[in-house]
Amino acid sequence: MYKGLPMSETQKQKILIVDDHPTNVLVLRKILEKEWDVQSAPDGLTALQVANEKPVPDIILLDVKMPDIDGYEVCRRLKKSPDTCDIPLIFVTSLREMKEEAYGLGLGAVDYIIKPVNGSIVKARVRNHIALQQARKELTLKNKALEQLAIRDNLTGLYNRRKLDESFAQEVARSDRYNRPLSVIMLDIDYFKAVNDTHGHHVGDAVLVQTAEILLATLRTSDIPGRWGGEEFLIICPETPLDITVKLAERLRLNYESHDFHEAGRLTASFGVSTHHKGTHAKDIFLSADAALYRAKNGGRNRVESEIQKSE
Ligand code: GH3
Ligand code: MG
Ligand code: MG
Repeated sequence: MYKGLPMSETQKQKILIVDDHPTNVLVLRKILEKEWDVQSAPDGLTALQVANEKPVPDIILLDVKMPDIDGYEVCRRLKKSPDTCDIPLIFVTSLREMKEEAYGLGLGAVDYIIKPVNGSIVKARVRNHIALQQARKELTLKNKALEQLAIRDNLTGLYNRRKLDESFAQEVARSDRYNRPLSVIMLDIDYFKAVNDTHGHHVGDAVLVQTAEILLATLRTSDIPGRWGGEEFLIICPETPLDITVKLAERLRLNYESHDFHEAGRLTASFGVSTHHKGTHAKDIFLSADAALYRAKNGGRNRVESEIQKSE
């Protein structure tokens, strides 16, 4: 769940000043150090080194004319690296030609300040760019949280049906292209309604959460488990032929029946396994797995059944 930025409000943001003239560094430092945590570098290479130290600076004030590599080159290199490309960069320079300013901004700098600087203006610009950057970071985090909400089941944290459908389509494409086996396991908890009826819905919910935990503990990292709906779970098993998938389902079945569900006691689950065949309606695999599951239920539950997906 989204919890905002980890940075505490009292923690100062980090500014890196890059300038080969100590006096210029001193002037900027004086302007900025009350409000921010100021670091400096006397040349381009040192600047790149400091800029890559974690946590990376929140903003960089960059001189253009420097002896080894100039500010433009520092900017280019920072923009190239995924670790530093998002750091806002302000050129602070004595180059007052418009074409220089256009060039600097064209390299991706957010601002361009001409020396000699005015303290209040520098502070205001830095403040604005840092605020914008913070807003961008929060937006990225919120987007990530929303992405997770869209693909995960609220109760168990496993993938939801929509994401399972999407993953399955991807795996079918891979399986068909490279001629690789692909199977699925459908799991349905036995007599789950009785758990709700006897112990209440919250105990039923706890069983669903523990079912997800059993899946995660038993499966291989390449398997893709998710909640298909209600008390049904689906596991996509890439690179796995039918016989191995049946063995995996059997292992799940054993782990399931030996698990202590606390208030709900001992429970069992039934399993339907099926394998994808090129040239079939890919989604028919769910019908085959369902048919196998139905046989497992009718055959007395707590068992694994499999069904080869029929070719058209
Ligand atoms: P079977 O052995 O034939 O599978 O019987 P069953 O009782 O497990 O299956 P049935 O389909 O009759 O009942 C499923 C129950 O699952 C009914 C429904 O209320 C319950 N259920 C579905 N989603 C949730 C949920 O998110 N939380 C809880 N606590 N119960 C749920
Ligand atoms: Mg069911
Ligand atoms: Mg059931």
